[in-house]
Amino acid sequence: MSENDLGIKIGLEIHVQLTHLKTKLFCGCSTDFRGKEPNTNLCPICMGLPGSLPVLNEQAVKDAVALSFALNTQVQSKMLFFRKNYYYPDMPKNFQITQYDKAGGVPFSVNGKVKMENSKEIRITRLQLEEDPARLSYEGTIDASTATFVDYNRAGISLIEIVTEPDFGSPKEARIFLDKLRSIVESLGISDGALEGSMRCDANISLKGGIRVEIKNISSFKEAERALNFEISRQKSLIAKEIKVKRETRHWDEVRRITVSLRTKEEEQDYRYFPEPDLVPITLPPELLDKIKLDMPELPENLKDRLVAQYRISIANAKILAENKEYAKYFEQCGKIYHDANEISNWVVGDLIPSLAKRNISLQTAKIPPESFCGLLKLLDTGQINRSTAKTVLDEAIDSGKAPDAIVRQMGATKITDETTILQIVNKIFEEKPTAVQAAIKDPNAINYLVGLTMKATKGQADPKVINQVIRMKLEAG
Ligand SMILES: [Zn+2]
Repeated sequence: MSENDLGIKIGLEIHVQLTHLKTKLFCGCSTDFRGKEPNTNLCPICMGLPGSLPVLNEQAVKDAVALSFALNTQVQSKMLFFRKNYYYPDMPKNFQITQYDKAGGVPFSVNGKVKMENSKEIRITRLQLEEDPARLSYEGTIDASTATFVDYNRAGISLIEIVTEPDFGSPKEARIFLDKLRSIVESLGISDGALEGSMRCDANISLKGGIRVEIKNISSFKEAERALNFEISRQKSLIAKEIKVKRETRHWDEVRRITVSLRTKEEEQDYRYFPEPDLVPITLPPELLDKIKLDMPELPENLKDRLVAQYRISIANAKILAENKEYAKYFEQCGKIYHDANEISNWVVGDLIPSLAKRNISLQTAKIPPESFCGLLKLLDTGQINRSTAKTVLDEAIDSGKAPDAIVRQMGATKITDETTILQIVNKIFEEKPTAVQAAIKDPNAINYLVGLTMKATKGQADPKVINQVIRMKLEAG
């Protein structure tokens, strides 16, 4: 059965942590919790102690506006917060301050759309601001652990929740969208997707118009694709055995790479939403929205189009460069130093980025400034090194931070093009291999053997074209 025959419908609910904010959504506590002592960034507000009052983080609102524009959702003029009540150790207040309420609440923004590469449009249902719950961790897997650990440092950090319509036809398509979303939030400078747990998602999936199953607790986008693939094979085998797929919420266990049932629909909680009495409704001034719209940074889609138009590089290269602002910036810096933008883009996309990925480092931590990188391209352009040597030099430059010409000198890897040097080597070979020389005099095809010997003697550094010329010259001279 192909994926199309299965009638796969996937919807996503993504939580983007506003990692660049210094303080939490409703208090002044630090958001810097990764790798820190647990339960140290706390105050009466994020702990929900009696008498404490939340104060809304202004920048979080501006970020939500910017992301709304980027996802083409309509920002609602009135902003309201609601309490979602539930009793669970990850929420010290026993309620979460959020925005949506099924009974007449107003999300932050609604009805957006994001265009995919194949021009398919993914509909964005809504976007809203809310606070992150505490971080729960386990010893090993969730159901084998004897204890649950809670770190309230994360409780109260700003989240933007994005809900899509069930428009994805495959786990792969969902993953492409998630990666796209990551590059959008990174280009807006509101979240760093590389930080653990900064972008999490829940997913819902149905096959053949059947029952929708929710998958919770997916910690990264890579895991999302895995979880959805697992869920498809699970539901497929149930359908094959004519067992009804149950309406339920399942947990993604990334250690065992399976989904396990958390609760069935009948047990679904009633969150008793009601307007948060400690936060007044806010009307967003149109001037503020206009200003944010005017100050929007270049989004990956526009950046890609501009790179293609301005530098005449391939769409495929431009797309990869535009996905990460740092890459695009680096490419443009190189473009000011070296004349061939196409060659730069090919080497950045085809060699530099994969080399960095192999080392698990970013462009910022790699020790190869644009000047060095362009120096390498110049060595290649002037024929001083060949492509395979250039790749070795690039690796060495990334690791050592040395300039490529210095590395080449050290390696003695400069391509030998000098006729006199090559002639000396050829002379030696002619002396050592008289039979091969005789053969070449009789049969022009036998010359390749002599070229090969010369290449070997120069450890592949000599230019084969020059070797050929020198040998022919010598044969003709007799
Ligand atoms: Zn606090």
